[in-house]
Amino acid sequence: MALAQQDIIIFLGPPGAGKGSLSRLCIEHLGWQQISTGNLLRHHIAQGTELGQAVQRVIAAGQLVSDELVTQLVEDWLRRPVQEQSAVQPVILDGFPRTVSQARLLHNFLAREQGRFTVTVVHLAISSEILLERLSNRIVCSEKNCQTVYSLRADTRLTPRVTGICDLCNNELIRRADDELHAVRQRLDLYQQHEEELLQYFKAVGKPVVAVPVDQELTMVFNALQEQLRERVV
Ligand code: AMP
Repeated sequence: MALAQQDIIIFLGPPGAGKGSLSRLCIEHLGWQQISTGNLLRHHIAQGTELGQAVQRVIAAGQLVSDELVTQLVEDWLRRPVQEQSAVQPVILDGFPRTVSQARLLHNFLAREQGRFTVTVVHLAISSEILLERLSNRIVCSEKNCQTVYSLRADTRLTPRVTGICDLCNNELIRRADDELHAVRQRLDLYQQHEEELLQYFKAVGKPVVAVPVDQELTMVFNALQEQLRERVV
């Protein structure tokens, strides 16, 4: 039996661009799925797996873990059994690929899957000043299966209902180790080094790239995303 085709939507944007929050809206309102390599890795760290222990220091320092390792996590997810109804819903790649080498590994994997997946790249564009401001106010749910993102600022869409507590699961909100200032700078520099190369790579291999400005309110970003993808994603 031929497998149904699945759309892969790559969110290409720096840390703090709102990839996680935008993914959450796509999951809640459109029934999409999300693979966040950062969340998967943090999950391994929280569970103390061998993989988690191997990547813990690298992540806390704001550096990148190996291309092969993260690509394997993504491939395992995409290859999982597909009986469930949701299996063919579009899937967002959040935080992957981060380097051209990862993009190549993904490209080779998709080629081996012979057209089972289509890829659209969504470039989430934002200025560095706004990013630093967002990241310095970011707090996340400490529950490893939740990891929902909130803001320390009052009266924003991401402000929790009760200070310091997750709206969804009532667990404590914490700062991520890699949101401390020097790790943030390191992550933004790293991201910028790779972004241009990635955009050129996607264009060279003929993947459609659409731009969505994310220096606006989250629901506006969500609307702009749907508008851009209307004709591409079924
Ligand atoms: P994120 O939650 O996407 O900001 O990822 C948090 C951290 O996990 C990054 O700073 C990296 O250390 C690691 N990480 C996540 N995704 C990748 C990736 N695609 N390649 C390498 N490292 C990654």
